Amino acid sequence: MYRSHSCGELRIAHVGEEVTLSGWVQVSRDFGGMTFMDMRDRYGITQIVFNMDDDAQLCEQARKLGREDVIKINGKVRERSNKNPNRDTGDIEIEVTELTILNESKVPPFTIEDETDGGDDLRMKYRYLDIRRSPVRNNLIFRSKLAIETRKYLDQEGFIEVETPVLIKSTPEGARDFVVPSRMNPGQFYALPQSPQTFKQILMIGGMDKYFQIVKCFRDEDLRADRQPEFTQIDCEMSFVTRDEVLATFEGLTKYLFKTLNGIDLPDFPLMSYDDAVKIYGSDKPDTRFEMHFVELNDVAQGKGFGVFDNAELIVGICAKGQASEYSNKDIKKLTEWMQRPQIGAKGLVYVKFEADGNIKSSVGKFFSDEDLKVWGEKMGAEPGDMLLILSGETDKTRKQLNELRLEMGNRMGLMDPTVFNPLWVVDFPLLEWDEESERFHAMHHPFTSPKKEDQDKMLTGDHATMKALKADAYDLVINGVEIGGGSIRIHDRELQSKNFDLLGFTKEEAEEQFGFLLGAFEYGAPPHGGIAFGFDRLCAVMNGVNSIRDFIAFPKNNQGRDMMIDAPSPIADEQYDELSLKSTVK
Ligand code: ASP
Repeated sequence: MYRSHSCGELRIAHVGEEVTLSGWVQVSRDFGGMTFMDMRDRYGITQIVFNMDDDAQLCEQARKLGREDVIKINGKVRERSNKNPNRDTGDIEIEVTELTILNESKVPPFTIEDETDGGDDLRMKYRYLDIRRSPVRNNLIFRSKLAIETRKYLDQEGFIEVETPVLIKSTPEGARDFVVPSRMNPGQFYALPQSPQTFKQILMIGGMDKYFQIVKCFRDEDLRADRQPEFTQIDCEMSFVTRDEVLATFEGLTKYLFKTLNGIDLPDFPLMSYDDAVKIYGSDKPDTRFEMHFVELNDVAQGKGFGVFDNAELIVGICAKGQASEYSNKDIKKLTEWMQRPQIGAKGLVYVKFEADGNIKSSVGKFFSDEDLKVWGEKMGAEPGDMLLILSGETDKTRKQLNELRLEMGNRMGLMDPTVFNPLWVVDFPLLEWDEESERFHAMHHPFTSPKKEDQDKMLTGDHATMKALKADAYDLVINGVEIGGGSIRIHDRELQSKNFDLLGFTKEEAEEQFGFLLGAFEYGAPPHGGIAFGFDRLCAVMNGVNSIRDFIAFPKNNQGRDMMIDAPSPIADEQYDELSLKSTVK
């Protein structure tokens, strides 16, 4: 028998018991006559003691042990004289009577403690050692619970978990596909799914009514801190539902998960239109933990001789409460430079300070009288002590830039409380986005998203301008400025779907070749349906107030898309090229 208890289990009530534990040597402290050791497993840490007076040979053996050696001990539980209140097992220790070394360890390349000295790549290369650290382990345990609770909830709601294939067909829409050559079909390739979208719709046509899957998806995109080439979604689809029924189901799921895992009661999720989100926050995923709403100033700031404003499509600002005295001219200069970095690309930044003593200071004081500036202040709800920050230029760009500034100010001003969770649904997205360069429409969500009911006829008959204005029955769940997931009511009518492909620049043949199976299925009694997918890794991260999804993935890829442990991707053998009918272009 390797163990009678785990290393996290023993308490004062066990004092006097003979126990057997197995685990890793976390650290050892030698005091000559006595050797103390911390022994660790998944469940915790227990202090064990070797006493020279009792058994000199055993004590010598223990002294030779190093970090991460795997041992088994027998001994008696006793009360500690020097208790450790920070540890669940801190009231007791084990007087060891027998020691077995199960396996030795080399000196680990970084310390296996909560705070480690290991850099990212090193930790990934030795991920098995990293996983022994409690922060990583706890994240994986959280993830497991989140998956299990998700299954419980959806099962209770009548959803059926169906697996969809991993080897599917490559389609040019959306992100880039990972492709897999088919040995048995020379010159032909599978693609890894970017999402099970068409399969889940087919399941609705198959009458499954409510489908879900916790599923791996693959997108060959450039990586950022919160992106991974393979990631996991909670993917769902429902038949005979309206948008609001889908939202209610997944608001219910989200509330249930926050309650069960975080002990948090989320408020009801408000709905915000895409147009409002962009106008008020400059973003379709607004962080609504704080206000600092955008206020447009065109009507009061133009026509006063300040050319930059007069020529701007949009003049828009935010009011930073109580910041007038916090920002010296030097600070404003720094903030302006921050806004002018290529990542943001603002041309300049206008400020107005309403100082506590009633003075008004502004970078555009030459062009605008105090009376003018007071009008802006009133419009923006400024009080003495507040500072306005204003940008101008082309509408979309300016809004995006001000969104960055709003988030930066929110952060600096401590308004992004990590213990507060503010969910909302963003709804009524545009259906199509016009791309000037390629002179074609792109689907804002994906090509299967339905226009809103009132827009369906317009879509079949309207002109170009009408198409630009079509609204989709699509929705995103946003929490604290992070997009947790999104979905839509789908098109279930062949004619409308064909029209959409047509608008997206597919020829009839291309649409047939790529999506003929779905168009065909629409002709056999496709029910109205809709669905949603949540980013599972991201949900884990957000629920823990963390930015990076990597922390919640057991074996993540680094920023170059590499798995540092198994060293993938890697070259393949010449024979494999031949077998797969491929030619190597890399020497
Ligand atoms: N398939 C979509 C996605 O992966 C989600 C959905 O529309 O249900 O983003």
